[in-house]
Amino acid sequence: MKFSETYIGGILFASASLLTGLRTTLKEFFTPKVTEQYPENRATLKISERHRAMLYMPLDENGNNKCIACGLCQSACPNSTIIVKTKNIVDEESGKSKKVLDEYIYDLGSCMFCQLCVNACPKDAIAFNNQFENAVFDRKKLVIRLNK
Ligand code: SF4
Ligand code: SF4
Repeated sequence: MKFSETYIGGILFASASLLTGLRTTLKEFFTPKVTEQYPENRATLKISERHRAMLYMPLDENGNNKCIACGLCQSACPNSTIIVKTKNIVDEESGKSKKVLDEYIYDLGSCMFCQLCVNACPKDAIAFNNQFENAVFDRKKLVIRLNK
């Protein structure tokens, strides 16, 4: 018969097992907590800079939209979340017709946050921000025009 199968051995084995569990409990008791008490802590809540909450169009240093309406983001998007509407204007210098951005439509409700669109953009005209509070009662409100 093994010692752990004896009466005393069983008590010792169970005590050791109990102490192992208590050690883990004690360690976690003194470990700093990472759970966020949202929404009570909304004012101090820290969201990672890398968090992909919503697509937006950052402006250049002159306050202009950087999009050249190439449509690469729309082509890269796997579920048609982006629609790039363009219009043609005549370039005054060259006299040639040129495509410019008219409306940049983004459906937050169908976005998978895969970032394929951002990676495809040659002008860094789109990026993700971390503004995550976007809940609405009507899905239509999640279809947003990004260029103002
Ligand atoms: S993150 Fe992905 S799903 Fe969302 S718009 Fe970009 S490519 Fe489409
Ligand atoms: S956001 Fe970028 S990829 Fe999309 S149309 Fe504009 S320039 Fe092209």
